[in-house]
Amino acid sequence: MSGEVSSLPFGDAPTHASAIELYARKSAGFDERLAQTVELLKQAVAEHGAGLIQSTSLGAEDMVITDLIARHALPIDIATLDTGALHDETLALVPAIEARYGLKVEVFTPVQQAVIQFVKTNGERAMYESLDLRKACCAVRKLEPLSRMLAGRSAWITGLRREQSSNRAEVPFAEDDGKGRIKLNVLAAWSWADVWHYIAANDVPFNALHDQFMPSIGCAPCTRAIAVGEDFRAGRWWWEDEAAKECGLHATKDKTGVPA
Ligand code: SF4
Repeated sequence: MSGEVSSLPFGDAPTHASAIELYARKSAGFDERLAQTVELLKQAVAEHGAGLIQSTSLGAEDMVITDLIARHALPIDIATLDTGALHDETLALVPAIEARYGLKVEVFTPVQQAVIQFVKTNGERAMYESLDLRKACCAVRKLEPLSRMLAGRSAWITGLRREQSSNRAEVPFAEDDGKGRIKLNVLAAWSWADVWHYIAANDVPFNALHDQFMPSIGCAPCTRAIAVGEDFRAGRWWWEDEAAKECGLHATKDKTGVPA
């Protein structure tokens, strides 16, 4: 599904540029951050065993984590969500991971009848009409299948990084997900340059859309390319206020314990 994706927002600018050339830089402290991440993954295996899962969005950060899981032969299950609205380039990473690493990626999909009913009631473009409808779409296509993915698990690994947005500036390495599980953000301290340095150095497969100015990739109707100088997540739900830009997958507790 790609018909809704907006074109580049800066006129005659190029539509393709190598993400590796644009972003990959080895900065001070990279080796220490990498070693720390490997240690966090090993600790998570020791603490959670079969209760641990990597929930991959198939984004650049998650591809780094999958590579680390494979490289260190860590017994961690890997799963992703196919919302039914992803780009073909994103879905192509599932067989790419399986071919490259020999690891199975379990794919969770929404309840088809619920999607059909949502679209029938609210239309194909409901996400653009109101924040409530956008969140309702995310609930049907993402949150419900995520709850099945995480059922019976005690911990899940994500690719959240502090640098990704102001909403994520204080992401800890480990946090309560509000549902009795631990969420492990093993790349919390990594920079975007770190992520791409690792990808380049280890020839990690990545989404071809990263070479089309899309650093953060979600569903096709809700992702666009960003312009030079725009915020990392400016291409996600770009019609909404910054404060609203999360889909609920990474709701955290505020100081009152209420999921935000
Ligand atoms: S990101 Fe967009 S298309 Fe995907 S589930 Fe949320 S509102 Fe629906």
